[in-house]
Parts: sequence; structure tokens; C-alpha cells
Amino acid sequence: KSGFISIIGRPNVGKSTFLNRVIGQKIAIMSDKPQTTRNKVQGVLTTNDSQMIFIDTPGIHKPKHKLGDFMMKVATNTLKEVDLILFMINAVEGLGQGDQFIIEKLQTTKTPVFLVVNKIDQLHPDDLLPLIEKYQKLYPFTAIVPISALEGNNVETLLEQIKAHL
Ligand code: GDP
Ligand code: MG
Repeated sequence: KSGFISIIGRPNVGKSTFLNRVIGQKIAIMSDKPQTTRNKVQGVLTTNDSQMIFIDTPGIHKPKHKLGDFMMKVATNTLKEVDLILFMINAVEGLGQGDQFIIEKLQTTKTPVFLVVNKIDQLHPDDLLPLIEKYQKLYPFTAIVPISALEGNNVETLLEQIKAHL
């Protein structure tokens, strides 16, 4: 199984931390290269039976007013072309304006979207279920997966679920 995965989400939600955890040092090296294609490969995770190619989606991270129409189109097209979108949010901060913007863009695609609720190490366990119930109403996410990219909680489960959707 092999596929392209785009990780989107506001700055500081933990996208790089997640990639570094699952792929390791290679990421930092790759992300230092100047961008030559519109979809920058951030890293490739190869296991014995799967290959996950993580790509950056420039533009979708930024608020609308800073984007030209062209950049926006490129970002939205990328979301249509990948096999899976990981939409990462901060469990504690919840959704902000940038996230609403992303959800609008997701509505123009048919690509499966996992909502990755990161930083659950900072959340009281009792608060997790109400959060998930709230987010279920927001968008027809294919899965909602709470993780801690920093501590590694549930990251293996997320990778298994990703693999199942490639
Ligand atoms: P990015 O901008 O989305 O790539 O976010 P980063 O990966 O750079 O993370 C931003 C900050 O959040 C860093 O200080 C990370 O150490 C921290 N962080 C990332 N994941 C977690 C997590 O699961 N738990 C906690 N407590 N902090 C995290
Ligand atoms: Mg980053």
C-alpha cells in the first residue's frame, strides 16, 4: 500500500513534531532544500508493507487575505489530488479562525480527511470525548484520532489507520 498524505493545520499545532516522530531526521534535511515543485515532499515512511509519502501543502496554512487566487487554487488542487488529508488541531486551543478557513477548503474536496487532535498530553482525559463529539458535527471526518506527537501517544494507531486508507 502506498499513497500521498497531506498534513494541514495552523502553525504550532505540531505537524513537524509528528513528522519528525514518524520519519525522523530525514525530514529536517529535506525541508531545508529550496522548494522546486509545488508539492514539497516532507518525508517518506516506508514499512514492510506500506509507503506513506507526506507532502506539504503551501498556502492552505495561511489566512485567506494573504493569498493570491493562484496560490489558493494550487493549495486546493493539492488537497484533491492526495489520497488522505490529516487535518491537525491543538486539543487544548480548539478551533480558530484559520481552522474554519481550512474546513471551507475541505468542503470542496472528496479526499478522506482525518481530524488529528494533537497535544492530548495537555488535556484532561475527561475532556476528550466531548471534544470528539463536537468535532464530529463539524465535518464528515473519516476518522478523529487523538494523539500526542510529542510523547507518542496513539501515534502507532494513527499510522495503522492511515495505512488502512491508502
Ligand atoms: P507546526 O508549526 O505545526 O509544525 O508545529 P511544531 O511541530 O513546530 O510544534 C509547535 C510546538 O508544539 C513545539 O514547541 C512542539 O514541541 C509542541 N508540540 C507538538 N506536539 C505536541 C504534543 O503532542 N504535546 C505537547 N505538549 N506539545 C507539542
Ligand atoms: Mg512545522
